Amino acid sequence: MTNILSIRGVERRFANANGSTLALQATDLEVAENDFITILGPSGCGKSTLLRIVAGLDQPTAGEVLLDGHHIDEPGADRGMVFQSYTLFPWLTVRDNVCFGLRERGWPRARQLEVAQGYIEKVGLRGFENHYPKQLSGGMQQRVAIARALANDPRMLLMDEPFGALDHQTRELMQELLLGIWEAERKTVLFVTHDIDEAVFIGSRVVVMSARPGRIKLDLPVPLPYPRHYSIKTSPEFAALKADLTEQVRTEVRAAQEMAAVD
Ligand code: ADP
Ligand code: MG
Repeated sequence: MTNILSIRGVERRFANANGSTLALQATDLEVAENDFITILGPSGCGKSTLLRIVAGLDQPTAGEVLLDGHHIDEPGADRGMVFQSYTLFPWLTVRDNVCFGLRERGWPRARQLEVAQGYIEKVGLRGFENHYPKQLSGGMQQRVAIARALANDPRMLLMDEPFGALDHQTRELMQELLLGIWEAERKTVLFVTHDIDEAVFIGSRVVVMSARPGRIKLDLPVPLPYPRHYSIKTSPEFAALKADLTEQVRTEVRAAQEMAAVD
């Protein structure tokens, strides 16, 4: 299998009034094509920092990130981002939000519309093409964000707690939707979540990060076959993986809290 992304010795230190904070300790991660990597870890451990560096929105203070062997130092259409908070353009319709990247690249309008329509339908928003973001629920807005990211046909999807603001039921439906799309398109995904259930259900590999300064503490392949149906959540294999990860994450959350107490 080919590695598409290499994170090599990536460290991020932030300067502040008292000196500096080490947000991310030298971190290495090799991501193979079609991996669906879910990243867990206590709040403040550097998950978003790591994703922002891969996105090219932030620069490491040491180390480097290579995508298909090329050094990353700025955002690019080869990485599609979906964040927790809704980042749609409020003045554009669903259709024009999804077309946005294609328009920027100068695609002919007819081709933009055709590709956008395909993804709008894949995320179940047929009939909402002319709606504006504020007319949609949170779950629907995130579906538009996913369609917009996919329409650019990126090499990777970078998702930072994309379902974090949704209610439990909507969140479970979104997990299934994303999983279905991934099973069909086999994109390579880095997906940050604090939900262990979500991490195991959708991920082909779960990475657990340590309390700040973040580093990779555990990299666990999830041996559950795809396609996955939500009923696997009640299987003994799923429960065992979840129990193991819960223990690992709890240890780091406790460490993070002790650190916060002395900060
Ligand atoms: P997570 O996403 O895991 O909750 P973050 O990556 O957002 O964690 O943050 C990791 C650490 O880096 C935190 O201590 C945070 O306060 C610090 N940090 C993040 N971004 C900045 C910044 N722009 N300036 C200073 N400190 C930052
Ligand atoms: Mg974060």
